[in-house]
Amino acid sequence: NAAIEIRQLNKWYDDFHALKDIDLTVAHGERIVVCGPSGSGKSTLIRCVNSLETHDSGQIVVDGIVMKDRASVDSIRSEVGMVFQQFNLFPHLTIMQNLTLGPMKARGMSRADAEARAMKYLERVRIPDQAHKKPRALSGGQQQRVAIARSLCMEPKIMLFDEPTSALDPEMISEVLDVIVDLAEDGMTMIVVTHEMGFARRAADRMVFMDQGAVVETGTPEDFFERP
Ligand code: ADP
Ligand code: ADP
Repeated sequence: NAAIEIRQLNKWYDDFHALKDIDLTVAHGERIVVCGPSGSGKSTLIRCVNSLETHDSGQIVVDGIVMKDRASVDSIRSEVGMVFQQFNLFPHLTIMQNLTLGPMKARGMSRADAEARAMKYLERVRIPDQAHKKPRALSGGQQQRVAIARSLCMEPKIMLFDEPTSALDPEMISEVLDVIVDLAEDGMTMIVVTHEMGFARRAADRMVFMDQGAVVETGTPEDFFERP
């Protein structure tokens, strides 16, 4: 089966038609970059994939799980990690506590196991030395890498990134994108909403261009960047 299958997806915000007959299939291990103007529905689309937004018609199937009720949404969410523009770290907790006191604890992991797993993913995002600090002691780029590590601690099969570098100072963008490229090279299935075309060129298997709630074009990075 596909990692994600979206069929004829429609979403309205009241009478505003935010997603129009979206069809998108993402294979296991595939890296999709979604781009398009502000307000075109990119964020709404990926938020529908883990049911942060409900949809009005059409179907979403994630790793064979048909989204249809609370139980299926819970199963899907356990396989899908999401990283937002804002890092949403708890300011009064250390980085380690931010990683261990959430879902890992809720799932009944021992503190030692949770901390070991947190260190593994802090190493993965290249900041194992920051574990004991509070978020405010870290740069924005480091905080976003913590947010990525927090998501990875749930060992998701799929990662969704919603403009992960849009809140960062320019000099911090590449350190975050490099971490996402590492994940891509390890075969993580991902959908990344971004305006960073250099990233798309490096990491995307396929690009999806949205406008006014519809997918208007898809293709490989070569198709997009080498067109006259
Ligand atoms: P993008 O990510 O491409 O910038 P969004 O998916 O965030 O686009 O938004 C698509 C459109 O839906 C925009 O016009 C936005 O104003 C509207 N929209 C998004 N969220 C809401 C909401 N909660 N209520 C009403 N309109 C919304
Ligand atoms: P609440 O959090 O208010 O208890 P629900 O239990 O109704 O919300 O739903 C929990 C989540 O499951 C929500 O994010 C909602 O979008 C999603 N959900 C519920 N029913 C469906 C459905 N039939 N199809 C898709 N998603 C659903």
